[in-house]
Amino acid sequence: MEKIKMTTPLVEMDGDEMTRILWKMIKDELLLPFVDLKTEYYDLGLVYRNETNDQVTIDSANATKKYGVAVKCATITPNAARMPEYNLKEMYKSPNGTIRAMLDGTVFRAPIIVKGVEPYVKTWKKPITIARHAYGDVYKATEMKIPGAGKAELVYTAADGSETRELIHDFTGAGIIQGQHNLEDSIESFARSCFNYALDTKQDLWFATKDTISKKYDHTFKDIFAEIFEKEYKEKFEAAGIEYFYTLIDDAVARVIRSEGGYIWACKNYDGDVMSDMVATAFGSLSMMTSVLVSPHGYYEYEAAHGTVQRHYYRYLKGEKTSTNPIATIFAWTGALRKRGEMDNIPELGVFADKLEKACIDTIEAGKMTGDLALISTLENKEVLNSEEFIKAIRETLEKSL
Ligand code: NAD
Repeated sequence: MEKIKMTTPLVEMDGDEMTRILWKMIKDELLLPFVDLKTEYYDLGLVYRNETNDQVTIDSANATKKYGVAVKCATITPNAARMPEYNLKEMYKSPNGTIRAMLDGTVFRAPIIVKGVEPYVKTWKKPITIARHAYGDVYKATEMKIPGAGKAELVYTAADGSETRELIHDFTGAGIIQGQHNLEDSIESFARSCFNYALDTKQDLWFATKDTISKKYDHTFKDIFAEIFEKEYKEKFEAAGIEYFYTLIDDAVARVIRSEGGYIWACKNYDGDVMSDMVATAFGSLSMMTSVLVSPHGYYEYEAAHGTVQRHYYRYLKGEKTSTNPIATIFAWTGALRKRGEMDNIPELGVFADKLEKACIDTIEAGKMTGDLALISTLENKEVLNSEEFIKAIRETLEKSL
């Protein structure tokens, strides 16, 4: 069989620990035998980030701007314990944070659904994709403890020196206050990323805030979405047969639970933080969650939603075989290959991505799976495989379909 040719390279961002081990297995077994894989390789493993003072992360984001599509392995975000472990020169920021800031994107997370791993919510039949606004609000807030009686105010000093004041509260005793902000630019980018992704994936888009209570702050989010939709997307949505739907956050939560799924739920930063964990857990497993960063400028970065699976890595280092689930990382590759195929007009890449994804699902539904899935799967004939055996089983299924 002839390998599928590519014209533009994918930006390949390698990573850390167990997912770095899976990364190589996936390429060797499931990609290189079938695709004449073209990538521009960036090693975002912590060792090389440290060697380059994190310049490699910046270079990889710039390459994504150049080529348009990246695929990323999970990476360590250093904490105090990692400083001696990797002999770090400094506590580098999260690569995901750096890349997101440079590409100005929104992260979309969607579960991979298989028979046997049933969502806790019985009505959910299709994936629910969560889009989380990744700038501002409580994550960039300034807080203060109020020790006792006194007046707290919001003060805005314009460039010309003029002041605008709003009373927050006239305290008679101790309390707390918090100042939050967001930017029109950032909200507009968020809105465009959501509308574009809805068109890309032909799914309805839901958005919700608490605009009835927050008449200026949340209402601005609602207004910006509505304006951009009317001006730029209404006709495209009609042509694609999809809908944009705005409601209050409490109403959205009630509707989500009663829904069948199959739409994108755009959330403000905090709502997205909380709801993405709820949706991931309710769908069954973090190891079955994909994630894609979509920039309003048309760049895409695909990854698994989970981390580097550190605990398994330490067992792997001791020579043990681990049963780490590679599915979300495989889907990061298929997502990137499919997008590359669309952009370069190579339909074979999309067909291959579809077949590889189907091979993953068919293998699990035939009872062959990793330990994390075996724990929650309701299938009767389950066989727990280690990562290597599981990837080989997927390859066997894939080869039958090619
Ligand atoms: P983790 O996602 O690696 O693991 C969390 C839990 O889920 C663990 O109990 C693990 O056993 C289980 N799990 C996750 N993925 C699995 C898989 N594919 N197969 C089987 N079980 C799986 O998160 P963590 O332990 O909090 O973090 C480990 C490292 O990953 C940290 O250094 C952190 O900075 C990094 N991290 C990176 C990303 C990213 O690059 N996107 C995201 C989260 C965490």
